Amino acid sequence: MNLIQEAFQRLFPEEIFPYRAEIEYNRRLSTFNANIRLHHNTISLHLNLQWKDIDNEIKIGLIQNLLIKILKGKRLPQTESTKNFNNSKAILHTPNIELYTNFIKNIPMFAEKNKTDPLLDASFQRVNQHFFSGVMEKPNLQWGTDSRRKLAHYNFHDDSVTVSTLFQQGRTEVLDYLMYHELLHKHHQFNHKNGRGSYHGREFRRDEDKYPQRTFIDEEIKRMTRRKRGFFNFL
Ligand SMILES: [Zn+2]
Repeated sequence: MNLIQEAFQRLFPEEIFPYRAEIEYNRRLSTFNANIRLHHNTISLHLNLQWKDIDNEIKIGLIQNLLIKILKGKRLPQTESTKNFNNSKAILHTPNIELYTNFIKNIPMFAEKNKTDPLLDASFQRVNQHFFSGVMEKPNLQWGTDSRRKLAHYNFHDDSVTVSTLFQQGRTEVLDYLMYHELLHKHHQFNHKNGRGSYHGREFRRDEDKYPQRTFIDEEIKRMTRRKRGFFNFL
């Protein structure tokens, strides 16, 4: 049995696996990254080559996590095992997903550390000293595009913070605030108890509120991003 099918059957034991499944390992994806696509009736899974030697039980957890994402909108036939899934409020939690989240929790420790930038580095040092007692391990730091839609994000697969080049100008307080937000993702990433826990949960928001003059800076960011049409949103 193919790993994708195995992952599916463990989620939905009473279902017949209705897809064709392909798995490809490649070097193009970043550290321990993976993506999945459902097109017509084929599920294609791409994995960074690093996954090849990882235990199948962990891989099944990864795949279940991804399957949940692509199947979320699609109502599966109503059986005992799909009942929870079709009810979007329900949280799906499996032993494999738990193995997987425990595994990726440790990825930042062996992710390659090479990307950095003087401006982002200085911002990281300030925020780390001020809010994390200087104990946070430095992630990869990089500039993105000049996006006004995606202002910054943290990717736990390769332990990197990416910030829109929009913030190369502007006050350091604004850059530090974005940096703080993303480092909170690094800090909180696995505090939620399942694969799809709230990204900006109550604890996250409480920590975020510790940033001085937060509302004022939020307004400033809105002004900086308002010039062009688009959505205000940072992950
Ligand atoms: Zn966020």
